[in-house]
Amino acid sequence: MSAIVIIGGGITGAAAAEALSREGHGVTLIDKQGIAAMASGRTLGGVRQSGRHPAELPLARAAVAQWAGLHEALGADVGYRREGNLRLARTPAEVDVVRGLVESQQAQGLDLAFLPDNAAVRAVAPALSPDVLAASWCPTDGHADPVKATRAFAEAARRHGADVREGVGATAIHVAHHRVTGVATTAGWLAADRVIVAAGIHTPALLAPLGLHLPLAIQLVSVVQSEPLPPLLAQVFGVANADCAGRQEIDGRLRVTDGGTPATTASDVPSAGAVRDLIALVSRVLPMMGHA
Ligand SMILES: Cc1cc2nc3c(=O)[nH]c(=O)nc-3n(C[C@H](O)[C@H](O)[C@H](O)COP(=O)(O)OP(=O)(O)OC[C@H]3O[C@@H](n4cnc5c(N)ncnc54)[C@H](O)[C@@H]3O)c2cc1C
Repeated sequence: MSAIVIIGGGITGAAAAEALSREGHGVTLIDKQGIAAMASGRTLGGVRQSGRHPAELPLARAAVAQWAGLHEALGADVGYRREGNLRLARTPAEVDVVRGLVESQQAQGLDLAFLPDNAAVRAVAPALSPDVLAASWCPTDGHADPVKATRAFAEAARRHGADVREGVGATAIHVAHHRVTGVATTAGWLAADRVIVAAGIHTPALLAPLGLHLPLAIQLVSVVQSEPLPPLLAQVFGVANADCAGRQEIDGRLRVTDGGTPATTASDVPSAGAVRDLIALVSRVLPMMGHA
């Protein structure tokens, strides 16, 4: 069995730690901040097959099959709900886009429907605006609590014997004779015969000194979470051109995101204007956002 160091405690690193420690490997999971501190804590949390690139679809379908039993497998609530995903059309041009998406995804074997008018859309999701013209509807999509899910993987890994260390950052990956030997960290040296780099947007910087170029483009995405509201929306929604998306969390908070813009550095933050624009975009399809 291998000694494996996993760099990054997001959903990628935490899920890898759970699987490998369950198989009996000696796993050390480190995160320079904490579990779910970056994308995995900010994500919308949509568990979605619809709208995926054809190359991603088999993986997305396999994941949806796993999510149904994840709370039992991990022994923890992950907030998973299979209540469907709607992709909304706001203009006649977007109606054509959504209709085309439905046809191509049906051809790939995905069970989704085209809702051709506002009455059909609001029969599924009455909280949506009377201005929405049409939508795709994938009932087997859903959403989950991303922080609970990521922590559940990390806790299960711990129970299988993994050493989970928060507040420990990797500073360099060492290689000798074409084999990895370990990881230098802010808390000292960790010997390893395998290393998984799951450091999200910081992955390219860790790999570059090894001569490995990972062409990862960083998007700056705004996320807004409201106060708890009465339960009105069970589904996750997106829009035809993906400039906004959202869902209502189990505790009633709306969590909405925009489509992102290219970031110049990994430490950029969204402007107040971007947040205001996001609230306006969402309010147009989901009026309850404007009252939140
Ligand atoms: C706004 C938004 C909305 C999204 N919506 C969805 C959605 O609806 N559905 C969906 O499936 N996906 C969605 N995604 C994508 C999803 O969130 C990511 O694909 C996923 O969280 C990536 O997980 P990760 O573990 O690879 O990276 P991350 O969660 O970013 O984890 C990387 C971890 O590495 C740690 N780290 C970095 N450098 C070091 C270092 N040197 N040493 C130690 N630790 C380090 C960080 O602290 C961090 O915790 C969304 C993302 C965003 C930002």
